[in-house]
Amino acid sequence: MKNWIIEQLYPEYGQSMRVDEMLYEGTGDLQSLKVFHNERFGRVLTLDNIVQTTQADNFIYHEMLTHLPIIAHGNAKNVLIIGGGDGGMAYEALRHQSIEKVTMVEIDSAVVEFSKQHLPMLSNGAFDDPRLNLIINDGALFMKETKDKYDVIIVDSTDPIGPGEVLFTHEFYSDAKKALTEEGILVTQNGVPFMQGDELTTSLTHFKSLFKDWSAYIATIPTYAGGPMAFGWATDSEKHRFKTVEEIAARFSEEDFETHYYNPEVHVAAFALPQYIKKLFPV
Ligand code: SAM
Repeated sequence: MKNWIIEQLYPEYGQSMRVDEMLYEGTGDLQSLKVFHNERFGRVLTLDNIVQTTQADNFIYHEMLTHLPIIAHGNAKNVLIIGGGDGGMAYEALRHQSIEKVTMVEIDSAVVEFSKQHLPMLSNGAFDDPRLNLIINDGALFMKETKDKYDVIIVDSTDPIGPGEVLFTHEFYSDAKKALTEEGILVTQNGVPFMQGDELTTSLTHFKSLFKDWSAYIATIPTYAGGPMAFGWATDSEKHRFKTVEEIAARFSEEDFETHYYNPEVHVAAFALPQYIKKLFPV
């Protein structure tokens, strides 16, 4: 009988995956790391036994947290990624030739090092791109200290447990606001609302007190169990969110890369939220 990993993100609900080949298993200073092969999802990365990303479905998550804000912004040059140790987010952001610099602040160097070795298909050479500036640090500390300004800030963190917890606080979002350019956009990995609704409510409550325009958009990533994942959206520029399909299509047509999930219709539709998610918004 092959062995299985059981992801127990919730006390009463979990998911399991068959481990067809264990490629790496170890404990870094901050998190336990596993990379294994599963027949359906390819290579799977877990941190503290929580699925972070898989070879088969990472494109949905990485495309929606990069192309949507970058294309919505329309003139992004300087991008900041908090977390993102596997390099998949950096890869997608760097596909935009208009992007001049991507700063990636990852707290655990072990995630970067073994992702380079065991998950090269995610970073796709991003770690060698001269436009990438990789910093090993706590994203919350970096955000407090940075003097740079960013057109798009992407929080590609773990869930608000362990090292990721500080990335879901009012203080962090306040520091992020200060680090945004005038037209800048903050987007966040904000959990699966059907299972982690309070996380979205908390983040949006902070956004409401800090930003002129705030909301969430969604996409369904199969290995983030429980239905659509929410991505937090926050900006002081009210012109970005309400773009038409035609406006987004005109911008997307200027890009020279192919996507597998993101497109202009998906961009606009992602902001259409079901009632149960809308009800999580702070009144
Ligand atoms: N797609 C995943 C998800 O939705 O949960 C996130 C993947 S990515 C691997 C998450 C990264 O966030 C990990 O590499 C982890 O080390 C990093 N991380 C967690 N807390 C952090 C912090 N405070 N500062 C910077 N990086 C952090």
